Amino acid sequence: MLRWKDIIYYAKYGNPEPYEKVEKTEEEWRQELTEAQYQVLRQKATEPPYRNAYCRSYEPGVYTCAGCGQMLFNATEKYHAISGWPSFTQPARRGAIRYTFDDSHHMQRMEAICNVCGGHLGHVFNDGPEPGGLRYCINSASMVRLQDSREE
Ligand SMILES: [Zn+2]
Repeated sequence: MLRWKDIIYYAKYGNPEPYEKVEKTEEEWRQELTEAQYQVLRQKATEPPYRNAYCRSYEPGVYTCAGCGQMLFNATEKYHAISGWPSFTQPARRGAIRYTFDDSHHMQRMEAICNVCGGHLGHVFNDGPEPGGLRYCINSASMVRLQDSREE
């Protein structure tokens, strides 16, 4: 289980190795992604609170990256955080996400990035539920939910 000190460590000293890397040009991303996906994943946009696909959705399954398809979160780790965005307590796998300090918008936040394709997902905070204490606050547009739990 990841804890806040692990996230800080990754951001400071280096992130877990990705299982694979997906690299594309901005032109390719623009063609393959929807406008909403492109704005979030490649331009680091934040979608409006509550008016997004998975905010209030608690269907079973797995959440995959809209950019590269890798598994990011299990629906079992999703919880109701009253933030306006889908919230998770843990990633599906330790190496699924990388972390970097984000000082934009006059805030000090921890950015969560897809470790395979480098797409912006959202942010992670240390005010989540026990025992891990993490809150992954993720843009719906960066994810696609699948009903089956894929083995990778
Ligand atoms: Zn990705």
